[in-house]
Amino acid sequence: MTTTVSAYAAPSAKAPFEKITVTRRDLAPTDVLIDIKFAGICHSDIHTVRDEWGAASYPLVPGHEIAGLVAEVGSAVTKHAVGDRVGVGCMVDSCRECVNCKAGEEQYCLAGNVGTYGSLVDGEVTQGGYSQAIVVDEAFVLGIPEGIELDAAAPLLCAGITLYSPLKHWGAGPGKRVAIIGLGGLGHMGVKIAHALGAEVSVLSQSLKKQEDGLRLGADHFFATSDPATFEQLAGSFDLIVNTVSADLDMDAYLGLLALDGTLVQVGAPEQPMPVAAFSLIPNRRSLAGSMIGGIAQTQEMLDFCAQHGLGSEIEVISADQIDEAYERVVASDVRYRFVIDVATIT
Ligand code: NAP
Ligand code: ZN
Repeated sequence: MTTTVSAYAAPSAKAPFEKITVTRRDLAPTDVLIDIKFAGICHSDIHTVRDEWGAASYPLVPGHEIAGLVAEVGSAVTKHAVGDRVGVGCMVDSCRECVNCKAGEEQYCLAGNVGTYGSLVDGEVTQGGYSQAIVVDEAFVLGIPEGIELDAAAPLLCAGITLYSPLKHWGAGPGKRVAIIGLGGLGHMGVKIAHALGAEVSVLSQSLKKQEDGLRLGADHFFATSDPATFEQLAGSFDLIVNTVSADLDMDAYLGLLALDGTLVQVGAPEQPMPVAAFSLIPNRRSLAGSMIGGIAQTQEMLDFCAQHGLGSEIEVISADQIDEAYERVVASDVRYRFVIDVATIT
């Protein structure tokens, strides 16, 4: 017996969201049924819905920042019990056998990880978290520690891990000068996490409008990139830069801010390619890299780290009928700092 639940879907790239019903599969022995309480709105949802990355299928229920409570477990589930506070991020499965999966990097599964929404599984497209409930294999269900409210925890499942993973990989910590480009959903978690790791943190934002917030969230310095003097002042001064911007940037200008052996990690995923001059990389032996979310074990590590350091996302909780408006505000960089849908408003 499958379960039918209400959800909010994009009927096409341009039409407003509407309520639909989706079916959730019957529980396999290792499956968990989760009553979703909150779902974050990630800019990736917007890129996907608006078909900016191509290959979107409709109707599409986005949502890969899911927090809720376990409602039912399959007969062989050991990791989670009914009533547990749990989360689901961008993946709901992977091959589990390839070298990357075995290394705990399921996001880079050689067969392709199964996305929480928009992936084809047995002829059906997966549908995400803007919905009342979801069924996920226990291996891809994370425990949300006590100490983080479910609404503030939801964005950690994508925004949190997408920043935690590169910050750890490239050694953000005491003595490292880290810059975060873009103070949005991802960027604000980057500031909090890099600060908690002990790094010296700078924010590179379009203007100084968010300066007070940035400093309160843990940044040591805040700069406006609309001011050309910023690029002269900061030339060659960062060990690590994480670019969270959802739009095209002048990569050469930002690469010029890297110190000797510095790395610029691209996590923002704009629609268009961004050119890079060889002579932006050659001086100071600079690196340009990319990073995609994080593996399941590291996602749990990040949640535990956030609980230990009292970190959650700064959120604005909305009802499901406000999704279209929220999308417009995210695109206009007018979000402080993540919209989270109260799933109780999906009836
Ligand atoms: P977001 O909340 O919209 O934040 C992006 C921020 O970038 C904005 O708040 C703004 O910050 C800055 N920005 C926006 N437009 C800009 C422009 N034209 N020029 C300069 N700066 C601009 O988005 P998000 O949810 O954090 O996602 C950011 C990007 O990461 C998206 O492309 C998303 O698809 C991608 N993403 C990647 C991964 C991954 O695994 N790699 C995971 C999740 C999301 P200021 O106001 O401070 O300038
Ligand atoms: Zn996301």
